[in-house]
Amino acid sequence: MTDLRAWLPRGVDAIEAWNAAYGPVSPHPSLAVPDDVLGEAFGRLVERLQDNYPFGNPRYVGQMLKPPHPAAVLGYTTAMLINPNNHALDGGPATAAMEKEVVARIATMFGYDDHLGHLTSSGTIANLEALWVARESLPGKAIAFSADAHYTHARMCGVLGVEGIAVRSDAAGRMDLDHLDEVLATGRVGTVVATLGTTGLGALDPLPDIVARARATGARVHVDTAYGGFFALIADDSPDGVVSAPFRAIADADSVVVDPHKHGLQPYGCGAVLFRDPAVGRFYVHDSPYTYFSSDELHLGEISLECSRAGAAAAALWLTLEVVPLTDAGLGQALRADRRGALEWARLLDESDVLAAYQAPELDIVAYFPQRASLSAIDSASEALFHAAAAGDPAGQIHLATYAVTAAAMAARGHDAVIDVTTARILRSTVMKPESEAYVGSIHARLEELVAGL
Ligand SMILES: *Cc1c(COP(=O)(O)O)cnc(C)c1O
Repeated sequence: MTDLRAWLPRGVDAIEAWNAAYGPVSPHPSLAVPDDVLGEAFGRLVERLQDNYPFGNPRYVGQMLKPPHPAAVLGYTTAMLINPNNHALDGGPATAAMEKEVVARIATMFGYDDHLGHLTSSGTIANLEALWVARESLPGKAIAFSADAHYTHARMCGVLGVEGIAVRSDAAGRMDLDHLDEVLATGRVGTVVATLGTTGLGALDPLPDIVARARATGARVHVDTAYGGFFALIADDSPDGVVSAPFRAIADADSVVVDPHKHGLQPYGCGAVLFRDPAVGRFYVHDSPYTYFSSDELHLGEISLECSRAGAAAAALWLTLEVVPLTDAGLGQALRADRRGALEWARLLDESDVLAAYQAPELDIVAYFPQRASLSAIDSASEALFHAAAAGDPAGQIHLATYAVTAAAMAARGHDAVIDVTTARILRSTVMKPESEAYVGSIHARLEELVAGL
Protein backbone atom coordinates (compact mmCIF):
# COMPACT_ATOMS: atom_id res chain seq x y z
CA MET A 1 0.00 0.00 0.00
CA THR A 2 1.02 3.58 -0.63
CA ASP A 3 2.79 4.84 2.47
CA LEU A 4 2.07 8.53 2.96
CA ARG A 5 4.87 8.72 5.53
CA ALA A 6 7.23 8.19 2.61
CA TRP A 7 5.38 10.28 0.04
CA LEU A 8 4.24 13.41 1.87
CA PRO A 9 7.82 14.57 2.62
CA ARG A 10 8.56 14.26 -1.11
CA GLY A 11 5.81 16.76 -1.78
CA VAL A 12 7.14 19.12 0.87
CA ASP A 13 10.68 18.80 -0.55
CA ALA A 14 9.55 19.43 -4.12
CA ILE A 15 7.63 22.60 -3.27
CA GLU A 16 10.39 23.89 -0.99
CA ALA A 17 12.92 23.40 -3.79
CA TRP A 18 10.66 25.24 -6.23
CA ASN A 19 10.15 28.13 -3.80
CA ALA A 20 13.89 28.29 -3.07
CA ALA A 21 14.61 29.23 -6.68
CA TYR A 22 12.88 32.56 -6.01
CA GLY A 23 15.22 33.29 -3.14
CA PRO A 24 15.02 32.87 0.63
CA VAL A 25 11.94 33.80 2.66
CA SER A 26 12.15 34.26 6.41
CA PRO A 27 8.82 33.75 8.13
CA HIS A 28 7.60 36.81 10.02
CA PRO A 29 8.05 36.57 13.80
CA SER A 30 4.39 37.50 14.31
CA LEU A 31 3.41 34.09 12.99
CA ALA A 32 6.29 32.05 14.36
CA VAL A 33 5.09 29.27 16.66
CA PRO A 34 7.48 27.27 18.84
CA ASP A 35 7.40 23.53 18.24
CA ASP A 36 6.34 22.75 21.81
CA VAL A 37 3.34 25.08 21.52
CA LEU A 38 2.30 23.57 18.20
CA GLY A 39 2.95 20.09 19.56
CA GLU A 40 0.68 20.67 22.54
CA ALA A 41 -2.15 22.07 20.40
CA PHE A 42 -1.68 19.33 17.82
CA GLY A 43 -1.96 16.76 20.60
CA ARG A 44 -5.33 18.22 21.49
CA LEU A 45 -6.40 18.14 17.85
CA VAL A 46 -5.51 14.47 17.52
CA GLU A 47 -7.33 13.80 20.77
CA ARG A 48 -10.45 15.57 19.55
CA LEU A 49 -10.35 13.73 16.22
CA GLN A 50 -10.88 10.47 18.13
CA ASP A 51 -14.50 11.59 18.41
CA ASN A 52 -15.32 10.16 14.99
CA TYR A 53 -16.56 7.11 13.17
CA PRO A 54 -14.06 4.77 11.47
CA PHE A 55 -15.03 5.70 7.92
CA GLY A 56 -12.12 3.80 6.39
CA ASN A 57 -12.89 0.54 8.15
CA PRO A 58 -14.61 -2.15 6.06
CA ARG A 59 -17.16 -2.57 8.88
CA TYR A 60 -18.17 1.06 8.52
CA VAL A 61 -21.10 0.53 6.14
CA GLY A 62 -23.26 3.51 6.96
CA GLN A 63 -23.29 6.81 5.15
CA MET A 64 -21.51 7.83 1.93
CA LEU A 65 -18.21 8.43 3.66
CA LYS A 66 -14.68 7.17 3.26
CA PRO A 67 -11.17 8.60 3.42
CA PRO A 68 -9.59 9.77 0.16
CA HIS A 69 -7.15 7.69 -1.84
CA PRO A 70 -3.51 8.27 -0.76
CA ALA A 71 -2.81 9.74 -4.22
CA ALA A 72 -5.51 12.34 -3.56
CA VAL A 73 -3.98 13.21 -0.19
CA LEU A 74 -0.53 13.49 -1.77
CA GLY A 75 -1.79 15.58 -4.68
CA TYR A 76 -3.89 17.82 -2.45
CA THR A 77 -1.23 18.38 0.19
CA THR A 78 1.56 19.03 -2.28
CA ALA A 79 -0.47 21.55 -4.30
CA MET A 80 -1.84 23.15 -1.13
CA LEU A 81 1.69 24.13 -0.13
CA ILE A 82 1.43 26.57 -3.05
CA ASN A 83 -2.31 27.10 -2.48
CA PRO A 84 -3.40 27.97 -6.01
CA ASN A 85 -6.89 29.35 -6.58
CA ASN A 86 -8.65 27.88 -9.59
CA HIS A 87 -10.92 30.86 -9.99
CA ALA A 88 -8.60 32.41 -12.54
CA LEU A 89 -5.47 31.52 -14.45
CA ASP A 90 -3.81 34.36 -12.50
CA GLY A 91 -4.42 32.23 -9.40
CA GLY A 92 -2.89 28.99 -10.59
CA PRO A 93 -2.27 28.07 -14.22
CA ALA A 94 -1.04 24.54 -13.48
CA THR A 95 -4.03 23.40 -11.45
CA ALA A 96 -6.47 25.19 -13.79
CA ALA A 97 -5.03 23.12 -16.64
CA MET A 98 -5.36 19.98 -14.51
CA GLU A 99 -8.97 20.87 -13.80
CA LYS A 100 -9.73 21.16 -17.51
CA GLU A 101 -8.06 17.79 -18.11
CA VAL A 102 -9.97 15.93 -15.41
CA VAL A 103 -13.26 17.51 -16.44
CA ALA A 104 -12.58 16.38 -20.03
CA ARG A 105 -12.03 12.83 -18.74
CA ILE A 106 -15.33 12.98 -16.88
CA ALA A 107 -16.99 14.23 -20.08
CA THR A 108 -15.56 11.23 -21.94
CA MET A 109 -16.84 8.90 -19.22
CA PHE A 110 -20.35 10.27 -19.82
CA GLY A 111 -20.07 10.17 -23.61
CA TYR A 112 -20.10 13.95 -24.08
CA ASP A 113 -18.27 14.85 -27.32
CA ASP A 114 -18.33 18.51 -26.52
CA HIS A 115 -18.71 20.03 -23.10
CA LEU A 116 -18.38 23.04 -20.87
CA GLY A 117 -17.73 22.18 -17.27
CA HIS A 118 -15.71 22.64 -14.16
CA LEU A 119 -15.16 21.34 -10.66
CA THR A 120 -17.19 22.79 -7.80
CA SER A 121 -16.87 22.67 -4.06
CA SER A 122 -19.78 20.21 -3.81
CA GLY A 123 -22.63 18.43 -5.53
CA THR A 124 -24.99 20.99 -4.05
CA ILE A 125 -23.24 23.88 -5.79
CA ALA A 126 -22.85 21.84 -8.99
CA ASN A 127 -26.60 21.19 -9.03
CA LEU A 128 -27.32 24.82 -8.21
CA GLU A 129 -25.39 25.83 -11.33
CA ALA A 130 -27.23 23.29 -13.47
CA LEU A 131 -30.60 24.51 -12.18
CA TRP A 132 -29.54 28.12 -12.67
CA VAL A 133 -28.63 27.35 -16.30
CA ALA A 134 -32.00 25.58 -16.56
CA ARG A 135 -33.74 28.77 -15.41
CA GLU A 136 -31.70 30.99 -17.72
CA SER A 137 -32.28 28.65 -20.69
CA LEU A 138 -36.07 28.57 -20.31
CA PRO A 139 -37.08 31.49 -18.10
CA GLY A 140 -40.40 31.19 -16.32
CA LYS A 141 -40.50 27.40 -16.67
CA ALA A 142 -40.65 24.95 -13.79
CA ILE A 143 -38.13 22.27 -12.82
CA ALA A 144 -39.41 18.75 -12.15
CA PHE A 145 -37.57 16.14 -10.06
CA SER A 146 -38.64 12.93 -8.39
CA ALA A 147 -39.90 12.78 -4.84
CA ASP A 148 -36.81 10.67 -4.06
CA ALA A 149 -34.38 13.21 -5.59
CA HIS A 150 -31.92 14.90 -3.27
CA TYR A 151 -33.63 17.56 -1.15
CA THR A 152 -31.27 20.14 -2.63
CA HIS A 153 -33.39 20.41 -5.80
CA ALA A 154 -36.52 21.64 -4.04
CA ARG A 155 -34.40 23.96 -1.92
CA MET A 156 -32.43 25.41 -4.80
CA CYS A 157 -35.63 25.98 -6.78
CA GLY A 158 -36.58 28.17 -3.83
CA VAL A 159 -33.23 29.95 -3.94
CA LEU A 160 -33.59 30.52 -7.69
CA GLY A 161 -37.23 31.56 -7.50
CA VAL A 162 -38.23 28.75 -9.84
CA GLU A 163 -41.27 26.55 -9.41
CA GLY A 164 -40.17 23.04 -8.38
CA ILE A 165 -42.47 20.09 -9.06
CA ALA A 166 -42.00 16.77 -7.27
CA VAL A 167 -42.87 13.79 -9.46
CA ARG A 168 -43.99 10.67 -7.61
CA SER A 169 -41.55 7.82 -7.34
CA ASP A 170 -42.59 4.25 -8.05
CA ALA A 171 -42.28 1.04 -6.03
CA ALA A 172 -38.58 0.81 -6.90
CA GLY A 173 -37.82 4.38 -5.84
CA ARG A 174 -37.54 5.57 -9.47
CA MET A 175 -39.34 8.48 -11.09
CA ASP A 176 -42.88 7.40 -12.00
CA LEU A 177 -43.25 7.91 -15.75
CA ASP A 178 -47.04 8.10 -15.71
CA HIS A 179 -46.90 10.93 -13.22
CA LEU A 180 -44.11 12.58 -15.21
CA ASP A 181 -46.38 12.47 -18.28
CA GLU A 182 -49.09 14.25 -16.31
CA VAL A 183 -46.66 16.87 -15.06
CA LEU A 184 -45.21 17.44 -18.54
CA ALA A 185 -48.71 17.71 -20.01
CA THR A 186 -49.27 20.88 -17.99
CA GLY A 187 -46.71 22.58 -20.26
CA ARG A 188 -45.12 24.24 -17.24
CA VAL A 189 -41.92 22.20 -17.12
CA GLY A 190 -38.70 23.52 -18.66
CA THR A 191 -36.24 21.02 -17.19
CA VAL A 192 -36.59 17.53 -15.78
CA VAL A 193 -33.99 16.43 -13.24
CA ALA A 194 -33.28 12.69 -13.34
CA THR A 195 -31.32 11.10 -10.52
CA LEU A 196 -28.94 8.24 -11.27
CA GLY A 197 -28.42 6.79 -7.90
CA THR A 198 -30.84 8.35 -5.41
CA THR A 199 -29.07 9.30 -2.22
CA GLY A 200 -31.33 7.10 -0.13
CA LEU A 201 -31.47 3.87 -2.10
CA GLY A 202 -29.22 4.26 -5.12
CA ALA A 203 -32.29 3.91 -7.36
CA LEU A 204 -31.83 4.79 -11.04
CA ASP A 205 -34.48 6.94 -12.67
CA PRO A 206 -35.42 5.60 -16.15
CA LEU A 207 -33.34 8.16 -18.02
CA PRO A 208 -33.91 6.99 -21.62
CA ASP A 209 -37.70 7.30 -21.13
CA ILE A 210 -37.30 10.61 -19.32
CA VAL A 211 -35.18 12.04 -22.14
CA ALA A 212 -37.71 10.91 -24.76
CA ARG A 213 -40.65 12.38 -22.85
CA ALA A 214 -38.86 15.64 -22.07
CA ARG A 215 -37.76 16.12 -25.68
CA ALA A 216 -41.29 15.49 -26.91
CA THR A 217 -42.46 18.50 -24.88
CA GLY A 218 -39.43 20.71 -25.51
CA ALA A 219 -38.09 20.28 -21.99
CA ARG A 220 -34.42 20.01 -21.09
CA VAL A 221 -32.92 17.20 -18.98
CA HIS A 222 -30.43 17.51 -16.14
CA VAL A 223 -28.92 14.36 -14.60
CA ASP A 224 -28.00 14.43 -10.93
CA THR A 225 -25.55 11.59 -10.68
CA ALA A 226 -23.64 13.10 -7.76
CA TYR A 227 -23.51 9.74 -6.05
CA GLY A 228 -23.76 7.21 -8.86
CA GLY A 229 -21.96 8.84 -11.79
CA PHE A 230 -18.76 6.83 -11.66
CA PHE A 231 -20.78 3.63 -12.03
CA ALA A 232 -20.91 4.62 -15.71
CA LEU A 233 -17.51 2.86 -15.84
CA ILE A 234 -19.16 -0.50 -15.13
CA ALA A 235 -22.58 0.10 -16.71
CA ASP A 236 -22.39 -3.01 -18.91
CA ASP A 237 -25.27 -5.19 -17.63
CA SER A 238 -22.71 -7.79 -16.44
CA PRO A 239 -23.17 -9.77 -13.19
CA ASP A 240 -20.99 -7.39 -11.15
CA GLY A 241 -21.71 -4.31 -13.23
CA VAL A 242 -24.78 -2.09 -13.28
CA VAL A 243 -27.54 -1.58 -15.82
CA SER A 244 -26.29 0.22 -18.92
CA ALA A 245 -29.28 2.04 -20.40
CA PRO A 246 -29.65 4.91 -17.89
CA PHE A 247 -25.92 5.62 -17.91
CA ARG A 248 -25.72 5.54 -21.70
CA ALA A 249 -28.53 8.09 -21.88
CA ILE A 250 -26.48 10.67 -19.94
CA ALA A 251 -24.90 11.53 -23.30
CA ASP A 252 -28.33 12.75 -24.45
CA ALA A 253 -28.95 14.94 -21.40
CA ASP A 254 -28.21 18.67 -21.29
CA SER A 255 -26.20 18.64 -18.10
CA VAL A 256 -24.80 16.27 -15.52
CA VAL A 257 -23.42 16.52 -11.99
CA VAL A 258 -21.03 14.07 -10.36
CA ASP A 259 -19.22 14.22 -7.02
CA PRO A 260 -15.59 13.07 -7.11
CA HIS A 261 -15.72 13.44 -3.31
CA LYS A 262 -18.19 10.57 -3.18
CA HIS A 263 -17.10 7.73 -5.48
CA GLY A 264 -14.09 9.48 -7.04
CA LEU A 265 -11.76 8.82 -4.08
CA GLN A 266 -11.42 12.54 -3.26
CA PRO A 267 -11.50 14.57 -0.05
CA TYR A 268 -14.49 16.87 0.44
CA GLY A 269 -14.56 19.96 -1.69
CA CYS A 270 -14.86 18.25 -5.07
CA GLY A 271 -18.04 18.19 -7.15
CA ALA A 272 -18.38 18.71 -10.89
CA VAL A 273 -20.95 20.07 -13.33
CA LEU A 274 -20.82 19.55 -17.09
CA PHE A 275 -23.02 20.95 -19.85
CA ARG A 276 -23.28 19.28 -23.23
CA ASP A 277 -23.65 22.57 -25.07
CA PRO A 278 -20.68 24.88 -24.49
CA ALA A 279 -22.89 27.79 -25.59
CA VAL A 280 -24.41 27.93 -22.09
CA GLY A 281 -21.19 29.76 -21.25
CA ARG A 282 -23.07 32.88 -22.39
CA PHE A 283 -25.08 32.87 -19.15
CA TYR A 284 -21.91 33.15 -17.12
CA VAL A 285 -20.49 36.14 -18.96
CA HIS A 286 -19.14 38.75 -16.58
CA ASP A 287 -16.02 40.77 -16.20
CA SER A 288 -14.01 41.40 -13.11
CA PRO A 289 -11.82 44.39 -12.31
CA TYR A 290 -9.61 42.20 -10.11
CA THR A 291 -9.04 39.14 -12.22
CA TYR A 292 -8.53 37.63 -15.64
CA PHE A 293 -5.45 39.70 -16.53
CA SER A 294 -2.80 37.05 -17.08
CA SER A 295 -4.28 35.38 -20.13
CA ASP A 296 -6.91 35.68 -22.84
CA GLU A 297 -7.61 31.98 -22.50
CA LEU A 298 -10.81 30.98 -20.75
CA HIS A 299 -10.48 31.33 -16.99
CA LEU A 300 -12.47 28.81 -14.95
CA GLY A 301 -13.99 31.69 -12.97
CA GLU A 302 -15.57 32.88 -16.19
CA ILE A 303 -17.65 29.72 -16.38
CA SER A 304 -18.55 29.15 -12.74
CA LEU A 305 -20.69 30.82 -10.10
CA GLU A 306 -18.19 30.19 -7.34
CA CYS A 307 -15.13 32.41 -7.14
CA SER A 308 -12.26 31.03 -5.05
CA ARG A 309 -11.85 27.27 -5.28
CA ALA A 310 -8.96 25.08 -4.19
CA GLY A 311 -6.54 24.36 -7.02
CA ALA A 312 -5.39 21.60 -4.69
CA ALA A 313 -8.71 19.81 -5.27
CA ALA A 314 -7.95 19.66 -9.00
CA ALA A 315 -4.39 18.47 -8.31
CA ALA A 316 -5.74 15.74 -6.04
CA LEU A 317 -8.21 14.50 -8.62
CA TRP A 318 -5.66 14.76 -11.42
CA LEU A 319 -3.03 12.71 -9.57
CA THR A 320 -5.62 10.15 -8.53
CA LEU A 321 -6.88 9.68 -12.10
CA GLU A 322 -3.30 9.35 -13.37
CA VAL A 323 -2.93 6.22 -11.22
CA VAL A 324 -6.53 5.01 -10.92
CA PRO A 325 -7.97 5.98 -14.30
CA LEU A 326 -11.60 6.39 -15.25
CA THR A 327 -11.79 2.99 -16.91
CA ASP A 328 -13.30 -0.36 -16.08
CA ALA A 329 -9.77 -1.66 -15.39
CA GLY A 330 -9.05 1.35 -13.14
CA LEU A 331 -11.67 2.81 -10.80
CA GLY A 332 -14.18 0.36 -12.27
CA GLN A 333 -12.56 -2.54 -10.43
CA ALA A 334 -13.20 -0.90 -7.06
CA LEU A 335 -16.80 -0.16 -8.04
CA ARG A 336 -17.32 -3.78 -9.13
CA ALA A 337 -16.16 -4.95 -5.70
CA ASP A 338 -18.65 -2.55 -4.07
CA ARG A 339 -21.37 -3.83 -6.35
CA ARG A 340 -20.55 -7.49 -5.59
CA GLY A 341 -20.65 -6.69 -1.89
CA ALA A 342 -24.10 -5.12 -2.20
CA LEU A 343 -25.41 -8.00 -4.33
CA GLU A 344 -24.09 -10.62 -1.91
CA TRP A 345 -25.66 -8.74 0.99
CA ALA A 346 -28.99 -8.62 -0.88
CA ARG A 347 -28.77 -12.37 -1.48
CA LEU A 348 -28.14 -13.03 2.20
CA LEU A 349 -31.07 -10.80 3.16
CA ASP A 350 -33.38 -12.68 0.80
CA GLU A 351 -32.46 -15.93 2.58
CA SER A 352 -32.72 -14.49 6.07
CA ASP A 353 -35.44 -15.39 8.57
CA VAL A 354 -34.87 -12.33 10.75
CA LEU A 355 -33.91 -9.53 8.37
CA ALA A 356 -35.65 -8.49 5.14
CA ALA A 357 -34.41 -6.49 2.16
CA TYR A 358 -36.42 -3.30 1.56
CA GLN A 359 -35.75 -3.51 -2.19
CA ALA A 360 -33.06 -4.85 -4.53
CA PRO A 361 -29.95 -2.63 -4.82
CA GLU A 362 -29.33 -1.01 -8.21
CA LEU A 363 -25.90 0.29 -7.17
CA ASP A 364 -24.10 -0.39 -3.88
CA ILE A 365 -26.67 0.77 -1.33
CA VAL A 366 -28.54 -1.91 0.62
CA ALA A 367 -31.68 -1.14 2.65
CA TYR A 368 -33.14 -3.68 5.08
CA PHE A 369 -35.00 -4.09 8.35
CA PRO A 370 -35.62 -6.56 11.16
CA GLN A 371 -38.72 -8.62 10.41
CA ARG A 372 -41.50 -7.50 12.75
CA ALA A 373 -45.30 -7.56 12.72
CA SER A 374 -45.85 -3.79 12.73
CA LEU A 375 -44.16 -0.69 11.37
CA SER A 376 -43.64 0.74 14.84
CA ALA A 377 -41.89 -2.49 15.85
CA ILE A 378 -39.73 -2.34 12.71
CA ASP A 379 -38.83 1.23 13.60
CA SER A 380 -37.79 0.47 17.16
CA ALA A 381 -35.98 -2.76 16.22
CA SER A 382 -34.06 -0.88 13.49
CA GLU A 383 -33.02 1.76 15.95
CA ALA A 384 -31.99 -0.85 18.50
CA LEU A 385 -30.01 -2.81 15.90
CA PHE A 386 -28.29 0.37 14.71
CA HIS A 387 -27.05 1.05 18.25
CA ALA A 388 -26.27 -2.56 19.15
CA ALA A 389 -24.14 -3.03 16.01
CA ALA A 390 -22.07 0.06 16.78
CA ALA A 391 -21.54 -0.83 20.45
CA GLY A 392 -18.76 -2.68 22.19
CA ASP A 393 -15.14 -3.38 21.30
CA PRO A 394 -14.08 -1.10 18.44
CA ALA A 395 -12.58 -4.10 16.63
CA GLY A 396 -16.03 -5.67 16.35
CA GLN A 397 -18.20 -2.61 15.77
CA ILE A 398 -20.40 -2.36 12.69
CA HIS A 399 -21.56 1.09 11.66
CA LEU A 400 -24.83 1.39 9.78
CA ALA A 401 -27.15 4.24 8.85
CA THR A 402 -30.91 4.55 9.20
CA TYR A 403 -33.37 5.54 6.51
CA ALA A 404 -36.90 6.82 7.02
CA VAL A 405 -39.58 5.24 4.84
CA THR A 406 -43.31 5.89 4.61
CA ALA A 407 -45.95 3.27 5.30
CA ALA A 408 -47.06 3.65 1.67
CA ALA A 409 -43.53 2.99 0.36
CA MET A 410 -43.28 -0.15 2.51
CA ALA A 411 -46.65 -1.40 1.27
CA ALA A 412 -45.74 -0.62 -2.36
CA ARG A 413 -42.79 -2.99 -2.00
CA GLY A 414 -45.02 -5.75 -0.68
CA HIS A 415 -43.94 -5.52 2.96
CA ASP A 416 -47.11 -6.31 4.83
CA ALA A 417 -46.33 -5.15 8.36
CA VAL A 418 -49.30 -3.66 10.22
CA ILE A 419 -49.41 0.08 9.54
CA ASP A 420 -49.61 1.67 12.97
CA VAL A 421 -47.38 4.70 12.24
CA THR A 422 -46.95 6.80 9.09
CA THR A 423 -43.18 6.49 8.81
CA ALA A 424 -40.60 4.04 10.10
CA ARG A 425 -36.85 3.94 10.23
CA ILE A 426 -35.16 1.04 8.53
CA LEU A 427 -31.43 0.39 8.03
CA ARG A 428 -29.32 1.50 5.13
CA SER A 429 -25.78 0.48 4.27
CA THR A 430 -23.55 1.98 1.63
CA VAL A 431 -20.99 -0.59 0.49
CA MET A 432 -18.72 2.07 -1.01
CA LYS A 433 -15.35 0.63 -0.04
CA PRO A 434 -14.10 -2.33 -2.05
CA GLU A 435 -12.55 -3.67 1.18
CA SER A 436 -16.06 -4.18 2.57
CA GLU A 437 -16.89 -6.88 0.01
CA ALA A 438 -14.98 -9.50 2.00
CA TYR A 439 -16.81 -8.49 5.22
CA VAL A 440 -20.39 -8.60 4.00
CA GLY A 441 -20.93 -12.21 5.08
CA SER A 442 -19.66 -11.67 8.61
CA ILE A 443 -21.45 -8.32 8.96
CA HIS A 444 -24.73 -9.90 7.94
CA ALA A 445 -24.22 -12.87 10.27
CA ARG A 446 -23.47 -10.55 13.18
CA LEU A 447 -26.55 -8.43 12.46
CA GLU A 448 -28.73 -11.56 12.38
CA GLU A 449 -27.31 -12.60 15.72
CA LEU A 450 -27.96 -9.16 17.19
CA VAL A 451 -31.56 -9.09 15.87
CA ALA A 452 -32.21 -12.46 17.46
CA GLY A 453 -31.02 -11.06 20.78
CA LEU A 454 -32.99 -7.80 20.70
C1 LIG B 1 -24.70 13.86 -2.27
C2 LIG B 1 -25.71 14.26 -3.26
C3 LIG B 1 -25.99 15.61 -3.51
C4 LIG B 1 -25.37 16.72 -2.72
O1 LIG B 1 -24.00 16.77 -2.94
P1 LIG B 1 -22.98 17.36 -1.85
O2 LIG B 1 -21.67 17.08 -2.46
O3 LIG B 1 -23.23 16.62 -0.57
O4 LIG B 1 -23.28 18.81 -1.71
C5 LIG B 1 -26.90 15.90 -4.51
N1 LIG B 1 -27.51 14.92 -5.20
C6 LIG B 1 -27.27 13.62 -4.98
C7 LIG B 1 -27.97 12.59 -5.79
C8 LIG B 1 -26.37 13.24 -3.99
O5 LIG B 1 -26.15 11.94 -3.74
